Amino acid sequence: MALLRRRRRPAAAPLSPQLVRCGWDCGARLPMLQMSEHEDQHCVKREVLCPFGCESDRVTVEALTAHKAACRFRPVRCPLGCGESMAFHAKELHVRQLCPRRKVPCQLGCGKHVEIEARDKHEAGACANRIIACARGCGRSLRASLAPAHEEKCSGSAPLCSISSLKCAVVFGDEAAKEALVLQARLALETGSRVLLSAELRENNRSVDDCKLMLRTLYIELRPFCVDQGFLPEVLLEGGGPRGGGVAMLEVKPSEALMLKLADTA
Ligand SMILES: [Zn+2]
Ligand SMILES: [Zn+2]
Ligand SMILES: [Zn+2]
Ligand SMILES: [Zn+2]
Ligand SMILES: [Zn+2]
Repeated sequence: MALLRRRRRPAAAPLSPQLVRCGWDCGARLPMLQMSEHEDQHCVKREVLCPFGCESDRVTVEALTAHKAACRFRPVRCPLGCGESMAFHAKELHVRQLCPRRKVPCQLGCGKHVEIEARDKHEAGACANRIIACARGCGRSLRASLAPAHEEKCSGSAPLCSISSLKCAVVFGDEAAKEALVLQARLALETGSRVLLSAELRENNRSVDDCKLMLRTLYIELRPFCVDQGFLPEVLLEGGGPRGGGVAMLEVKPSEALMLKLADTA
């Protein structure tokens, strides 16, 4: 045993001119000349330090095997298989809070426990609760677990709600009627529909500028519920010609927040 820490050794008691008693009290009696070697190297009652560096009292050589098997500082391997070794007393902390193999609950609430190092991957790529875009391209955000049911019936584009034949005189002159139009568009957006607002020039004194202003006025009201373009969107003009049969159109799409709210409805 290398780490010998000899106790304050009582002077080997002289027994006879030749024999002395072992200072560790093992009962051995040896000639004086052999006693030092016995006490330093062979006596089973000699005391040594725990090789694991624990703070325990000195350990006798005969008790050392049992002590090492129970010592709080004995090295153990991580039971989760991460490959690390640690003192026995630190194992629980390692397993519960430090080990890269420890399992933690999924933060998206799917109920699974996954290894901490694999959690991001689970939440981004495997979790049934993650939000994904419809694979058919309709623009809907979907809870992954509901995506198959939605995609089965999805046409690949968001449903369209068309609000046509809008009239400047109504939008600018009848507050209640305007509110009703805004509400109709808003309800459509809230169910995930695109909304197409259109006004025929012929029905609006053929005034392109008035029609554009009207559609943008409605857009401003709908802004919190549709994709905010950050500026007044371009109004599309279609048709026209000498007879003034043209149409002014503006399409708006549901906001990201609304689409996320719909993620749980297939
Ligand atoms: Zn002895
Ligand atoms: Zn020990
Ligand atoms: Zn570990
Ligand atoms: Zn999950
Ligand atoms: Zn879809």
